[in-house]
Amino acid sequence: MNEKETDIIDVINPATGESAGTVKRCTKDDVHSAIEMAEDAFSGWAAKSPRERAKLLFLSAQEIRERQTELAELLTAEQGKPLFEAKNEIQGCAAVLEYYASISGTVRGDFLPKSDYGYSFTVKKPLGICGAIIPWNMPVLILAWKTGPALVAGNCLIVKPSSKTPLTSQKIAAILHSCGIPEDVFSVVTGSGSEAGSALAESRRIAALSFTGSVETGNFVEKLSCGTGKRLTLELGGSDPMIVCSDADIDSAVAGAVAGRYYNCGQTCTAVKRLYVMEDIAEEFKRKLTEKVSQIKTGNGMIKGTKMGPLIDMDAREKISMLISGIERDYGAEILTGGKITGTPELKSGSFFEPTVIAGAPKDCFLFTEEIFGPVLPVAVVKDMDEAIEEANRTKFGLGASVWTKSLKNSFEATEMLDAGIVWVNRHLKIPPEVPFGGEKESGSGRENGLSALDRYMKEKTVIMTP
Ligand code: NDP
Repeated sequence: MNEKETDIIDVINPATGESAGTVKRCTKDDVHSAIEMAEDAFSGWAAKSPRERAKLLFLSAQEIRERQTELAELLTAEQGKPLFEAKNEIQGCAAVLEYYASISGTVRGDFLPKSDYGYSFTVKKPLGICGAIIPWNMPVLILAWKTGPALVAGNCLIVKPSSKTPLTSQKIAAILHSCGIPEDVFSVVTGSGSEAGSALAESRRIAALSFTGSVETGNFVEKLSCGTGKRLTLELGGSDPMIVCSDADIDSAVAGAVAGRYYNCGQTCTAVKRLYVMEDIAEEFKRKLTEKVSQIKTGNGMIKGTKMGPLIDMDAREKISMLISGIERDYGAEILTGGKITGTPELKSGSFFEPTVIAGAPKDCFLFTEEIFGPVLPVAVVKDMDEAIEEANRTKFGLGASVWTKSLKNSFEATEMLDAGIVWVNRHLKIPPEVPFGGEKESGSGRENGLSALDRYMKEKTVIMTP
């Protein structure tokens, strides 16, 4: 590699194998410079009224909506998702910024009862310089989840996107700057996780770090952050179970499973990653599911009608392909549809994999215990709710879960018993900005979205006034 190549990251379009653009490979020194600039800007930004900060976020959201098509095309080029999904994500980003702008005036502390010491109250203050580390699967939405609450609370924020998908984040940053948010208040440092990401995690000058990514990297980031005094939010991997009860509306459960698993080519933290169906409806459910999945049109996300794009890169495709290559032979499972690298000539240069359904694998095999980040859905048959919940809770993950039923009893039992940060009844996947979201067990700690996330970016100061 020559000097020039090491300074630049080439972002590869996963549908074509061609370059989608380049960004600077930032070093630790670049991150330290961004921190220094943010430190100089912090007091001015924190001194603005929440309403003033909110106004700039509203303007940014409006501009993002106006430039939706251009941003979505760039997102599809760097990440691979179909254009309609990319547009949803861009709109989701604008909605999150608008939500936090709209609650800016609600930030308040508490007045406490008068005591022997006099009057006491608490005030909420911004933390200082915050960091955000973003994965490649939903790069724009996750950026908004961290940017909205951090900025409206009066913090400066330094964002490190994944080096696989930095392009749209950079463009969003340019929009925020053009709408009046200073460059040193909100900055994007592009670079590798091991260099730029770890510089944020190790720094004592970063007051809070919100990391979204895999369990392994999250654990490493936690170690790097240890002893630096920063507040850490970890949004990590998941292996969400979906339980389909005997009384469920089968067609809507099938539609929910298809959307829940194959959206974003199965690369969503809260995707349906394991499905448990009750035995009396299992055959009908599997038949309808297989039929629907085999009809999913896979291809370049820029082409109209494409319902599923490629995996993020060839390594991810190789990993999925290797994982399920011996599933029939070694585990006695049956591949009901898919199971192979997509073989059509026009898709050869992209990292495409067929949407896949697998039945009959043992319930304790890796398909049910690990996170499979791709378009593969294992289906298991269970006899009742007790077994479904026992199986659903068997993993180390606890991000999301869903139950599909018409019964109130089943709904309450599942929401009470499932180990998950979020439980849906008769739906899966979608999370509005006002709803707190995060994991249990090894899926992480802390919450994004809603007022819970705003609290993560503020500290509370208590004042006691003795008259
Ligand atoms: P990774 O953990 O590989 O990467 C996440 C981010 O961490 C990237 O920006 C990466 O940078 C960075 N990183 C890598 N190494 C380090 C390091 N040593 N120090 C600091 N930062 C580092 O995850 P993926 O990008 O592969 O994303 C997929 C995972 O994210 C899945 O497990 C998924 O479930 C999870 N996820 C969780 C969500 C949640 O809210 N719970 C939401 C979305 C995804 P770079 O890529 O440049 O190396």
